[in-house]
Amino acid sequence: MSGSATIELSLCRSCHTRFLPTDGPCPKCGSVDCVPYAGGAVGKVLAATELLVPATGWQAPHRLALVELTDAVRVLAVVDGPSPSQGALVEVRKDGEIYRARSEPSP
Ligand SMILES: [Zn+2]
Repeated sequence: MSGSATIELSLCRSCHTRFLPTDGPCPKCGSVDCVPYAGGAVGKVLAATELLVPATGWQAPHRLALVELTDAVRVLAVVDGPSPSQGALVEVRKDGEIYRARSEPSP
């Protein structure tokens, strides 16, 4: 884990917006002219919650965090480990179809 980890985003070639999820048109201008873009994987927790009665297939407590990545891209991620506090830094990675976040160790 390091500050240089990256995560694949989409970059719109029309308006240069970077976004997730990567499959789909640009959320800002609707263009489908988008290419992969490596963004920073470390982001700040905007909000976190803990579901005690999660959806089928998930174990309780199911922790979720809304994370703003360094490229101003927001992603809802499953939290591995303890629930992060608002403003904490986490590293996000893609795991199959979902995104996972884990706390960054203090430098
Ligand atoms: Zn666009």
